[in-house]
Amino acid sequence: MPEKRWLPETLFEDLGFRMTYAVEKVLYEQQTAHQHLVLFEHKHFGKMLMLDGATQVTTRDEFIYHEMMTHVPILAHGKARNVLIVGGGDCGIAEEVLKHKALKSVVQVEIDASVIEFSKEHFPEFTKPVFRDKRFESVIADGMKYVATTSRRFDVIIVDSTDPQGPGAVLFTKEFYAACKRCMAPGGVMVTQNGVPFMQPDELISSVGMFKPLFADAACYVAAIPTYVGGHMAMGWASKDQTLRRHPARTIAARYQKAGSFRTKYWTPEVHVAAFALPRFIAEHVQRAKKK
Ligand code: SAM
Repeated sequence: MPEKRWLPETLFEDLGFRMTYAVEKVLYEQQTAHQHLVLFEHKHFGKMLMLDGATQVTTRDEFIYHEMMTHVPILAHGKARNVLIVGGGDCGIAEEVLKHKALKSVVQVEIDASVIEFSKEHFPEFTKPVFRDKRFESVIADGMKYVATTSRRFDVIIVDSTDPQGPGAVLFTKEFYAACKRCMAPGGVMVTQNGVPFMQPDELISSVGMFKPLFADAACYVAAIPTYVGGHMAMGWASKDQTLRRHPARTIAARYQKAGSFRTKYWTPEVHVAAFALPRFIAEHVQRAKKK
């Protein structure tokens, strides 16, 4: 019996922490022009995608992150018509966004075409509905360059990036957030993948600290995602409208019903509202960031 291959999650190596996954079968492995990409089968988490040693998506728990990064900003906004996704190569975010039939356009700006191409083969549950939807537009470009130059305006911007390393680092800068504000429509909102505060508090503190001078509302909300290890994951929140994240569950429920009450497995109107009720240590990180 050949020795089983174990693949390490190396995102927290600087903390002296590694987590390894037993590989049942490697489905695809490539050093792309931008990053190391490996997709493998895991007996508990299903298909797992890693980029530069950081878990990106697993078929077992992807629904949590994808539902919370999409339905929260879109239903909080209430009148979104144009959505921008920065990153999102596996198309899991786009698949959830497109469930909102009132949307007119969904633009995804992904730097690495390889991620999309292999997702078409290995994540058809995401890519098939996305690429047959006429509202969807795929742009292969650096998200930084796109938001700095596009003449389009977006009601919701979803930054489904990797972590602040490699090509993803630029998506955690003041310049990027200022450019997102530039192409955000009045009353718009941006949400960002902002890591696990228990393991990487500086990522959240840094982003919210940069949101503060740029947006009327700088905050975050949380969700528990098993394979983003270390407790709650934080999603950054930056909006031109301070009221968006304060709607009661009955308002969100009414909007969800109007949107067709599509099936979800994690998000509910109550979970939507509760997600902004932060554990004290995370709320203190956000307060500290806003005092900077
Ligand atoms: N859900 C995952 C997570 O929470 O970490 C992220 C999903 S997706 C795989 C992240 C995508 O961001 C990758 O496909 C990567 O190629 C893309 N990306 C990284 N840097 C980028 C940049 N500067 N512009 C556009 N896309 C970028």
